[in-house]
Amino acid sequence: MTSKIFRTVILGAPASGKGTIANRIVEKFGFVHISPGDILRLNVSNGTALGKKAKTYMDEGKLVPDELIIKCVSGRIIEAGNRSWMLDGFPRTVAQAERLQATEPVDAVLNLDVPTDVIIERVKGRWIHLPSGRVYNEGFNSPKVPFKDDVTGEDLVQRPDDKPEIVRKRLEVYHEAMKPVLEFYEKYNLVTKFAGRKTAEIWPEVEKFLLKKTEEVVAKRQ
Ligand code: AMP
Repeated sequence: MTSKIFRTVILGAPASGKGTIANRIVEKFGFVHISPGDILRLNVSNGTALGKKAKTYMDEGKLVPDELIIKCVSGRIIEAGNRSWMLDGFPRTVAQAERLQATEPVDAVLNLDVPTDVIIERVKGRWIHLPSGRVYNEGFNSPKVPFKDDVTGEDLVQRPDDKPEIVRKRLEVYHEAMKPVLEFYEKYNLVTKFAGRKTAEIWPEVEKFLLKKTEEVVAKRQ
């Protein structure tokens, strides 16, 4: 049974629409979604030993040490049993990619490629109701009354790190960090790039690719 597992990694810059695409993949293909960021946040809020260790790094916006994160991801992969899975937010370093490839070689790496100017425009139009965390987007998910929360009528604000110059910096940091990881996977010919300006353009391509690829991989293993 385990031979029929499909193993994938999704990569995409902040605000590239990765969250939406990942959710659609889970809905359509039933993959187990493994996101170390989510796992760590849960551990922090439950005050576990892992959460306590990870918190100091997370609070400073630093990567959690490889050993800790690899342990946390391996645990989830084991729990997935004979279900296919998708990693989201891992690997972030070549050491992580190497460890994964040595133990659980992936079948495909989906690399979402949205132009920087599109991401900056998207983030510029993002308004937040701080007390509830509700997020609005000018144009496609606007509040009923401009700059006011739909539920409470309170003011919406922009996150300081959504400012264009900060977003540009975050994107640079992301690309710089991911470059060696992408090069690692390119050596194995595993990377497929999905380029587009909108999630609505990218999703059909991802879906088409996965329909074909999952079938191919499963057929090869039978
Ligand atoms: P995320 O939600 O993916 O941005 O992750 C939130 C935080 O968790 C990051 O800022 C890191 O501190 C930590 N983290 C998540 N994934 C990893 C990873 N693959 N390697 C190291 N640290 C990670």
